[in-house]
Amino acid sequence: MLFKNIIGQHEIKERLKQTVRENRVSHAQLFFGGEGRGKLALAIAYAQFINCRDKNRFTNGDSCGVCPSCIKYNKLIHPDLHFIIPVSTNTSVKEKPTSRQFIKHYRELLLENDYFTTLNSWYEKIGIEKKQAGINVYECSEILRTLSYTSYESEYKIMIIWMVEKLNYQAAPKLLKILEEPPDKTLFLLIAEQHEQIISTIISRTQLIKIPKIEDDEIIKACIEKLHVSREEAAMVAEIANGNFTEAVHLIKQGEGRKNYFDRFVGWMRLCWTVDVPKIMAFSDEISKEGRESNKSFLQFGMTVLRNCLVMNYTGKDIVKFREEERGFLEKFSPFVNQANAGRFSEEFNTAIYHIERNVSPGMVFLDLSLTVARLIKMTPSKAVS
Ligand SMILES: [Zn+2]
Repeated sequence: MLFKNIIGQHEIKERLKQTVRENRVSHAQLFFGGEGRGKLALAIAYAQFINCRDKNRFTNGDSCGVCPSCIKYNKLIHPDLHFIIPVSTNTSVKEKPTSRQFIKHYRELLLENDYFTTLNSWYEKIGIEKKQAGINVYECSEILRTLSYTSYESEYKIMIIWMVEKLNYQAAPKLLKILEEPPDKTLFLLIAEQHEQIISTIISRTQLIKIPKIEDDEIIKACIEKLHVSREEAAMVAEIANGNFTEAVHLIKQGEGRKNYFDRFVGWMRLCWTVDVPKIMAFSDEISKEGRESNKSFLQFGMTVLRNCLVMNYTGKDIVKFREEERGFLEKFSPFVNQANAGRFSEEFNTAIYHIERNVSPGMVFLDLSLTVARLIKMTPSKAVS
C-alpha cells in the first residue's frame, strides 16, 4: 500500500513520513479513529515506507512500490510484517485460535476491499459473527515466539495489532509487558476505534495518532474514481457516509439501495405513527435478517432523512438532493421533526447503531427504537414546553 493510494488524510501521511525522514519512529503507536477512515491502510503504508529499500528513488516521498520489500508488502506477505487480529474458534479452528490460523483469510479480505474493512465483515468472513472474538492469551505467547526470531529481510519487524480494544483482560498483562520491553528493532502499530474500550494502560504506553474523518470532497472523488458513480450520487453518498469510506462503498454497492432505503423508511415511519405493534414486530424481524452492516447503513440513512426534515422544517430547503417523489413525503413528514424531538431522534438512532455494533440482537434494537420513535413523532414544540 502506497501512501498516494490512500483516500485523503494528507496531513497524517505527511506527519508519518516525516517521522521516518527524521528518524524518530516511536516503537509503539496507536492509530485511533472511527470506522472507514483508513487507519489500517495508513498503518500498512507506514510499515511499507519504513521498510522500503528505495524510498528516495522518487521525489514524491512515498515508498518505491517496486523493490523486493515493497513487492511483498503489496501482497501483504512480507515475512517481517505480522498481523494480530481478533479471532475465535469456528468450524475449522476448534481450539486455541490465533491470528496465524486466520491470516490467509484476513489478507484476502484486505486485498478484496482495498484495505477498508470492519470488524463485522471480518467476523462474517470467518464465520464467527455471533461469537465473542478477541485477542487472547494464546496470541500473546505467539507474539513472543514470533518476535524472538530475528527479522528475515528488513531492518524492522512490524506488528500490526488490529482492533486492540478486543484484547481480552487475561491477555492484557502479557501484551503490556511486551510493549514495555519491546525486542530490538520491532515496531508495534496498534489500531482501534472504540476509545472507551481500550485498556488505559495500553493508551499510556503508546503514542496516539488520531485519524480524523475523511473529508467529503475526498470521498466524492474516490467514489467517482473507484466506483464509477456520477458526481451527484457520490455527493449524496458522501453526505450519508459522514467521513466513513466503508459506509460510502456499502451504500453504492447496494445499487438501488437508496431508493429501497427511502421506501422502507417511509413504511417504517408509518408503522411507528400508527403504533401498529404486530407489524412493527414483523418489520424488526424482517430487517434483522439483513445483517448488521446493512442495518447500520439503514439507520445512518434514517438519520440523514431526519436531519433533512429538521432543516426543511425551519428553512424550507433540502440539505441533500432528494427525488421529486421523495420530497412529497418529506414535506408532509418534516413538521414532525422539530426542536422538541430532533436531539432525541439523533441520540436514539446513534444508540441503536452502537448496540448493533456490540452484538445486541438487531430485531430487539429495531423494536425498541420503533416504540421510542412512535412516542417522539407525537411530540411538538408546544407540547414539549408544557
Ligand atoms: Zn520499496
